[in-house]
This record gives sequence, C-alpha cells and structure tokens, in this order.
Amino acid sequence: PKPEYLPAVTYLSHSSFIFTHIFMSGRLRNRVALITGAGSGIGLESSVLFAQEGCHVVLSDVNIDGAKKGAEIIATRYPNVKAIAIKCDVSREQDIKDAVDTAVKEFGRLDIMFNNAGIMHPEDDNALNTEERIWDLTMQINLKGVWWGCKYAILAMRQNPTDDSLGLHTGGSIINTASFVALMGAATPQLAYTASKGAVLAMTRELAMVHAREGIRLNSLCPGPLKTPLLMDFLNTEEKKQRRMVHLPMGRFGEAIEQAKAALFLASDDSSYMTGTDFTVDGGLSSAYVTAI
Ligand code: NAD
Repeated sequence: PKPEYLPAVTYLSHSSFIFTHIFMSGRLRNRVALITGAGSGIGLESSVLFAQEGCHVVLSDVNIDGAKKGAEIIATRYPNVKAIAIKCDVSREQDIKDAVDTAVKEFGRLDIMFNNAGIMHPEDDNALNTEERIWDLTMQINLKGVWWGCKYAILAMRQNPTDDSLGLHTGGSIINTASFVALMGAATPQLAYTASKGAVLAMTRELAMVHAREGIRLNSLCPGPLKTPLLMDFLNTEEKKQRRMVHLPMGRFGEAIEQAKAALFLASDDSSYMTGTDFTVDGGLSSAYVTAI
C-alpha cells in the first residue's frame, strides 16, 4: 500500500506510481513558480509536485547540481511543463533579483514564489556560545533571503496580466518556510535559527496585510522535524535523534513530500481565502504537552 508520505522524487516501483504521476489534476496549470532551495528536501519535492500539477518551475539553489537534478526529473516526467535550473544564493540580493527576472523573462509572469531555502548551522548554539558570524550568516540566508524573495516577487506579481483566465487567481501566492521552532522554544539551543524563523513569521504576517488588497497572498509554512539533510546532518547520532523522537506524537520524523503537499495547497487557489497564516504541518508536535506513549 502507498503510504501518504511517499516522496515524489524517489522513483516508485509499485503500480500506483503510474496513476499518481501521469494523471495530474492540474491545480497549478499554466502557473509559474520560483522555488529557492529547490535542490533538496522540501524545495525539490515541491518543484516536482508543482510540475505534476501543470506548473512551470524555476528551480533555484546555491547547489546548482541539485536544482539541475530536479529539472531533469521534471523534464522526463512532465514534458508539458518547462523547468529551469539556476544558481541562486539567497544571501545575495542580486541573485534573487536575477532569479525572478529569469522567471518573468522565460514565462512572462510569476504566480508563486516559494522562499524555502534555509540553513541550520552546526555551530548555532545558545546566547552565550553562538558566534556573531553564525548569527549573521543564519539571518542573511533565513531572513534577509526571504525578505528579498518577497520584495522581487511582489514587484513581479504586480506586473502579471490582470485579464488572465486562471480562475480565482489575481495577484500571486508567496510561501515563506518558517519552522515549528518559530512557534515553540527548543530546549536544545539553535538560537539564530529559531530567531530567524520567528522573524519570518512576523514579517510574513505584516506583508500579507500590506499586500492583501493587491490580491497577493503571503503565508508561512511551519514544518515539524523532517527526514531531510538539513535536520539529519544536525542530528548526527542516534542519541540526538532519539532526544527528539520522544516528543513526536506520531513517533516519526516528517517527510519532505508532506510539506510539499501543504505548499501546493498554499500555492493553489484551494487556499484563495488564506493569507497571513502560520500554516503548521508538524505531526501534532506543537499541540503536545506530553506524547501519547
Ligand atoms: P535541505 O537541506 O534538504 O534543503 C535546503 C536547500 O537549501 C539545499 O538544497 C541547500 O543547498 C539550499 N540552500 C542552503 N543555503 C542556501 C542559500 N544561501 N541560497 C540558496 N539555497 C540555499 O533542507 P529542508 O529540510 O528541505 O529545508 C527547507 C526549509 O525548511 C528550510 O528553510 C528549513 O529551515 C525549513 N525547515 C526544515 C525542517 C527540517 O526538519 N528539515 C523543519 C522546519 C523547517
């Protein structure tokens, strides 16, 4: 049987692959998305899933090889859409501007901006031990990168044709990846990361209000702990993994595809009356006092 969290990127051996991946429902048909951090994890799964739903995708990452891999998967599976891989370091404003310009030049519009790239630095620690350079690097990527992504996406979305035939869609959808730690404190400190993600939530809410009348929606995605390189590289011993596992109501880490499905909802008109939310997909973690067992 197909578990709900089956990744789109991993090639599936069972027959449901054909059904799931060939017969798309077209929830993003003819839309254009730019995704940062598209070379791995949530960004990679979202790129493939969005393409499956009929979306043209610009996959951007500082790791161009990862982004190219995603674009190749899309080209092979979904020849009806176009995927472009570009190098983009979100800590550099010019890179983000160039990435948005590429999307508009190539496809004539930008409908979805998924500001997803982020880091959790191994030297990120508590207030006493975190070095300023780690703090600054984390903020530069996790917070400033999201700000710039919003800035250039809003500028581009304002230029989108107004007489389009894409249904309810008017302005655009911007999704900013925060984290469950933006809602809760972590007792195993990662101060710069937590602070950067809290700021993403606050910034997204304000931008959502400022741009609501333009039809541009902004929502944050708050993933729980996932089985992606970002966290698994950080939890590099079984002891560290178990230290977290006891707090997970479902008894497992999340999968990137489970976040991609939430991002698809926020990107599509299915969420047309949602803006400014902290959209939490954390397996119940932020509702737990103690876990069931
Ligand atoms: P991941 O490590 O699998 O992917 C992150 C991608 O971002 C990588 O491809 C990496 O090359 C890219 N990246 C890193 N720095 C970059 C930069 N400066 N410019 C452009 N790209 C850059 O991680 P993931 O789990 O898919 O993380 C995606 C987002 O989800 C991040 O913002 C992360 O903070 C957030 N998040 C992850 C978890 C988790 O447990 N993995 C939990 C909550 C939130």
